[in-house]
Amino acid sequence: MSSAAFSMVELIRAKRRGDAHDASTLQDFVAALAAGVLPDYQVSAWLMAVMFQGLNLEEVTELTRLIAHSGTVLDLSALPGPAVDKHSTGGVGDKVTLIVVPMLAACGLTVAKLSGRGLGHTGGTADKLEAIPGFRVSLQEDELLGQLSRVGAAVATQSQNLAPVDGLLYALRDVTATVDSTPLIAVSVMSKKIASGADVILLDVKAGAGAFMPTVAAAQELAELMCEVGRRLGKRVIGVVTDMGQPLGFAVGHANEVAEAIATLQGRGPEDLTALCVALVALMLEAAERVPSYEAGRDLALQVLHDGRALGKLAEVIVAQGGDAGVLAEPLRMPQPRERVAVRAVRDGRVMALDALGVGMAAKALGAGRQRKGDPIDLAVGVSLRKKLGDAVLAGDVLAELLVNDPNGVESAVEALLGAYVIGDGTVDDSALIKAVIRP
Ligand code: URA
Repeated sequence: MSSAAFSMVELIRAKRRGDAHDASTLQDFVAALAAGVLPDYQVSAWLMAVMFQGLNLEEVTELTRLIAHSGTVLDLSALPGPAVDKHSTGGVGDKVTLIVVPMLAACGLTVAKLSGRGLGHTGGTADKLEAIPGFRVSLQEDELLGQLSRVGAAVATQSQNLAPVDGLLYALRDVTATVDSTPLIAVSVMSKKIASGADVILLDVKAGAGAFMPTVAAAQELAELMCEVGRRLGKRVIGVVTDMGQPLGFAVGHANEVAEAIATLQGRGPEDLTALCVALVALMLEAAERVPSYEAGRDLALQVLHDGRALGKLAEVIVAQGGDAGVLAEPLRMPQPRERVAVRAVRDGRVMALDALGVGMAAKALGAGRQRKGDPIDLAVGVSLRKKLGDAVLAGDVLAELLVNDPNGVESAVEALLGAYVIGDGTVDDSALIKAVIRP
């Protein structure tokens, strides 16, 4: 600690009054957190004060910097080309990383993607990748750097030592109803991104029922804040606000999401998912100055998607991480459910809404999600949507199939899914998937 005068009670009181903390106070606070000398009840009280009083831009930036440096900061400077990273605030059916990482590497960028595991109704990329037999998501730092220089891409779980103070704070936020604070989310996400070492960072901030941020306005505010913090800390950050009203693509789960990502890299993916991946890659290529314009980025993204280079890159990543690249030709090598249960429409009409949260809850009821960190999950189960927003349906049509191993969860999954589909008689605004873009 830089000063003997640091008082946690005073920190809480100051934030309760709405005062801003100065840099040296924040330095003392993060040092005390890292040293493990602060009781949970005091840290929780401070988190709740922040929930009500917020943090200003200087506080968010300084906390982000300090927490990023509370553990290892990856040094990617020896790798060829600008190193890029992509982060999603988490959605349902969000397998974008599995597609975008090989696309970017196929375009010549170095992509070091440190991914989390799923919690609650949203899936984590690290879990999904474990559906590939043999795939190792835990890499030591030297393995990660070695793979990045050979293959240009790696997807691994973040080590315990990456922004460890964020891990401490997040665990308390999770149990004190202080997760959904915009400045705290910004600090949490950006501290890990800064510690991950990339020069160019794309933040996909999801908005809608299945996301942390329920509205586009809230998602945009978070995206703008994170972009500005990143900029102040020397990074090129692109913020993209995307719709999470309904799930992305048709597959929600693990093995089935990997299969859908493979199909997308084979040029046979769902339209919404393909369009989003192409747009995100184009934005990153533009920000990384690989191409002169967004349009040129789109052309290159489509090229690597359609000429098989991106799929080839995924094969390289799988092999480098010990996985069975045979899944690209035979996705059935991944865990499969024992049975499929059809969920049918009870009336004629049109899908007016398809609540991503409800679909995520259905997948979770079948065993695809966790209640608590560390809980086991079933990689074979999930939901396969047949109808999406705007589709016409007749009574008795299959809306979705449940991928089931344990019949115990079926009843609540059916209930969640039927609640997620709103079938009506009106027309549906074909709402755009990308709601806002914040360029560096
Ligand atoms: N994702 C994070 O990493 N942190 C948050 O606080 C919320 C989402």
